[in-house]
Amino acid sequence: MVAQAGAQLGGQPILILPEGTLRQIGKDAQHNNIAAAKAVADAVRTTLGPMGMDKMLVDSIGDIVITNDGATILDEMEIEHPAAKMLVEVAKTQEEEVGDGTTTAVVLAGELLKNAEKLLDQNVHPTIITKGFKLAKEEALKFLKSISNKIDLDDEETLKKIAMTAITGKSAEKASEHLADIAVNAVKSIMEKNNGKLKIDTDNIQLVKKQGASIEDTKLIKGIIVDKEVVHSGMPKSAKDAKIALIDSPLEIKETETDAEIRITSPDQLQAFLDQEEKILKEMVEKIAEVGANVVFCQKGIDDIAQHYLAKHNILAVRRVKKSDMEKLSKATGARIVTNIKDLTEKDLGYAKLVEEKKVAGEAMIFVQECKDPKAVSILIRGGTEHVVEEVERALEDAIGGVASALEDGYAVAGGGAPESAAANHLRNYAQKFSGREQLAIQAFADAMEIIPKTLAENAGLDPIDIVAELRAAHEKEKYSYGVDPFSGKVIDMREKGVIEPLKIKTQAIKSASEAAEMILRIDDVITASKIESKGSGGGEMPGEFE
Ligand code: ADP
Ligand code: MG
Repeated sequence: MVAQAGAQLGGQPILILPEGTLRQIGKDAQHNNIAAAKAVADAVRTTLGPMGMDKMLVDSIGDIVITNDGATILDEMEIEHPAAKMLVEVAKTQEEEVGDGTTTAVVLAGELLKNAEKLLDQNVHPTIITKGFKLAKEEALKFLKSISNKIDLDDEETLKKIAMTAITGKSAEKASEHLADIAVNAVKSIMEKNNGKLKIDTDNIQLVKKQGASIEDTKLIKGIIVDKEVVHSGMPKSAKDAKIALIDSPLEIKETETDAEIRITSPDQLQAFLDQEEKILKEMVEKIAEVGANVVFCQKGIDDIAQHYLAKHNILAVRRVKKSDMEKLSKATGARIVTNIKDLTEKDLGYAKLVEEKKVAGEAMIFVQECKDPKAVSILIRGGTEHVVEEVERALEDAIGGVASALEDGYAVAGGGAPESAAANHLRNYAQKFSGREQLAIQAFADAMEIIPKTLAENAGLDPIDIVAELRAAHEKEKYSYGVDPFSGKVIDMREKGVIEPLKIKTQAIKSASEAAEMILRIDDVITASKIESKGSGGGEMPGEFE
């Protein structure tokens, strides 16, 4: 029921909220919010796991996305319901924190709410439910850590398995070994040790997509790909043992900021003026040549005259390079970005064994490769169609995220629903320590954890009830790495099968799912302001947008 905002006083309604405001109170608000959150979870649950299906999303202008990735699906769906949006946030947090496990997190949140709803119907107060959920969450996190395994930094094999588990189920799966290798090498290459602590910024792995060829042609470049061309036809198209200068100011004569006017009254003066300009540009180029650079990346423009002189010095130059690419180039080659050319010294130059312009799918790109110990690398993603390339990108992002969080956090668990079943069993025992309604809430949390193996089974066409029963039996005997193998339809040791995931995927999913559920459960009043009619075009644009 939708209540009007206000109360009655002697038959006279007192309105405390503006006209058009909608208000839902108590159970109505709770049920409505829970229904919306469950709908979101239902939307993604068929995609979970290696046998999960893909979704095709068509937006208002007809662009198509085909994906199996929870975060992407929810993002594309443009969800409006406020409680549903909170589940989308869960997926986003998961994506940002660990880069994988988004579907798991959302499905878990949906199930927590579904089970909470049953308790609400039995008149268990939301505060008791959230208290039980909090206790269960803490206990589950502790327990999972206790059954996890330490990962060694040099254990490439385990890391590769983690990457492959992240990729399974995506259409990129055919090439999962190859992609897993790339993901592991990329992460290992960019990781840095800061007084003993490992630091991995996955933004330093640049993903460059080019439709064409096949997924197997996807490759890791120990350096950076810059989507630009050599600026002048007279310049070399490649440079071996490249000494690279990175400049973030224009190789041009700066136009005066104020509207100054230069009055030229005779042809001589004009010539002198032009000569002066040319001289400045020539000096800039000479400085670059003098310090020994044979490659220049400039974040701004390069004047025609400067180009001419650079070509004369056999320097390969690229202009209008993105700021983010400049930063990556600096990390990959060890060059320092210089603003004032006068300050440029040999020490500022970076190194790459080879810089070359190459055509990929008919488009020229600059490959800065074979850098020494690059702290930024590129992956050139190839694939038959645009949609394949995009899904490979998402698969790689998941694999990279998985490997990175495995290394940073240092622990792994088995996949295939094993940790969730193990935690469910453990929590059921833990619940015995409590009495009454709190116990019910902890049990509800335990049951919700089983949605993961259940869904994995369901998506593989298996009977979830049988599978859960088998899993419970195995976990009673402390066989904590037993999970569902969707391919054989059996409950087996997933660790032996090589299905391994970072512990952090699981703990983060449990944390954010439970927090979102708790938050939604605490809401008993939804007040919605009436929508502001949009006044045609031109409303919110920033000034200067149409410049
Ligand atoms: P998410 O967005 O949550 O990562 P996925 O569709 O990637 O969703 O599915 C992840 C789930 O699939 C995890 O529970 C993982 O353990 C499981 N999984 C992945 N590969 C396998 C496999 N080969 N066998 C069994 N389970 C697997
Ligand atoms: Mg995944």
